Amino acid sequence: MLLVAEPIVGPEEKAALLEVIDSGWLTMGDRVRAFEQAFASQHEAEDSVAVNSCTAALHLILHALGLGPGDEVLVPSLTFVATANSALYVGATPVFVDIESADVPLMSLSDAEARCTPRTKAVILMHFAGCLADRAAWQAFAQRRGLVLIEDAAHAPGLKEVGTYGAAAAFSFYGNKNMTTAEGGAVIARDPALLAAIRQARGHGMTSGTRQRLDSRTPSYDVTMLGFNYRMDELRAAIGLVQLRHLAAWNEIRRGLVARYRRLIADRCPSVAVPFAQPRLSTCHLMPVLLPGPVLRQEVIDHLRADGIQTTIHYPPVHLMSFYRDRDPTVDLPRTEDFAARELTLPLHPRMGPETVEAVVSSLARAVQSSTSVEAVA
Ligand SMILES: *Cc1c(COP(=O)(O)O)cnc(C)c1O
Repeated sequence: MLLVAEPIVGPEEKAALLEVIDSGWLTMGDRVRAFEQAFASQHEAEDSVAVNSCTAALHLILHALGLGPGDEVLVPSLTFVATANSALYVGATPVFVDIESADVPLMSLSDAEARCTPRTKAVILMHFAGCLADRAAWQAFAQRRGLVLIEDAAHAPGLKEVGTYGAAAAFSFYGNKNMTTAEGGAVIARDPALLAAIRQARGHGMTSGTRQRLDSRTPSYDVTMLGFNYRMDELRAAIGLVQLRHLAAWNEIRRGLVARYRRLIADRCPSVAVPFAQPRLSTCHLMPVLLPGPVLRQEVIDHLRADGIQTTIHYPPVHLMSFYRDRDPTVDLPRTEDFAARELTLPLHPRMGPETVEAVVSSLARAVQSSTSVEAVA
C-alpha cells in the first residue's frame, strides 16, 4: 500500500540510537541541547526548546504568554484538533475562523476581523499543507487589534520564514510530518525571556535540570512557576539530529513531487482542483485536492484503495467534532465545511518517485471518470 505519509528512517537513525544507549544518558542531555540549537539555526533563530509534542509546544506557548480564562483565541477549524485544544488547556476560549477560499484554505483575515471581540487576545495561524500564511497582512492585523500572533507550524519545518510571524511557533515531529522523532515537538520564540519561560515550564517549573545539576556545585533547585513534564529524551533528539540534516533536501523533493502532481492533474483530470493555484512559499507537507461537486468521495477513496493507494482527509473540521459541537452547536463556517467535504489528500513523501505520482494521478483520473459517469447515469 502506498501511504499518504511515510517516515524515512534507516541506518543513520539506528546508529544514533545505539550511541545514546551506549552513552548511558537517556533524557534531556547534550543531544537534546544540540538538537535545539540545530533546529533553531535551520530557522535562523537564536535558540529553540525541544518538547515531546507539538501539542505540548502549543500549550507551553499559550501558558507562557499568560493566556487564560476570559481570553478568546482565534483558531482555524481546518486543522488538527490540537490547535484548538491548546486554548482550552489554559482556560481560554477557542473561536473558530473560516478559511479564505477553496483555493486558499488558510485562515481568512476578514473573517478573523469579524470574529474579534474585546476579549480576543491571540490568533493561532496554521500553515495548512505547508503553505505559509501571508505574514505582513497578519502582522498588521495583530498590531492593529493588539493581538499576540502564534504559529502552529506543524506542517512547516525547515523554512527560515517560519517562526518569524509573531511571539512563537510550535513544530511537530510526529511520525507523519516532514521530519520525525517518532513523537516530539519544538518551540521557536524570538524573545529570549519568553523562550526561557517556556523552557522552565517544560520541566516542572524547576530552575535547573538534571544535566545542569551534574555540572553544578549546588544540587538543589527551586520551583518558581507551575510547570509540566513536556521533556524530550536523548533517543528522540538523536533521531532528530539525523533527520534535520536531511530536512532541506526532503522538502525540495516534496516540491518536485507537488509540481509534478499539479502538471499531471491539470492534464489528466482537470475537473479536480489543486488548492494554492498561486505559488507560495511551502514545505509541501500535504498534497490536498478538491474533487468536483458531483463526484462521490467515498467511491474515489475506494477506487484508489483498490489500486493500493491510501488517501486521507485534511481535515474533518474541528468545530464539527462532537466535543466541540456540544460546546457550541451554532458555529457556522461554510467555506471550511465545503472544502472539508470535497477534500482528498494524496500520498506525498520523499520516498516517492515521479513514476509513483503518475500512478496516483492515473488512478485518480479513472476513479473520477467512473464516479462521474455513474452519477450521470443515475
Ligand atoms: C500533527 C499536528 C499537531 C499535533 O502534533 P503532535 O506532535 O502530534 O502533538 C498540531 N497541529 C497540526 C496542524 C498538526 O498537523
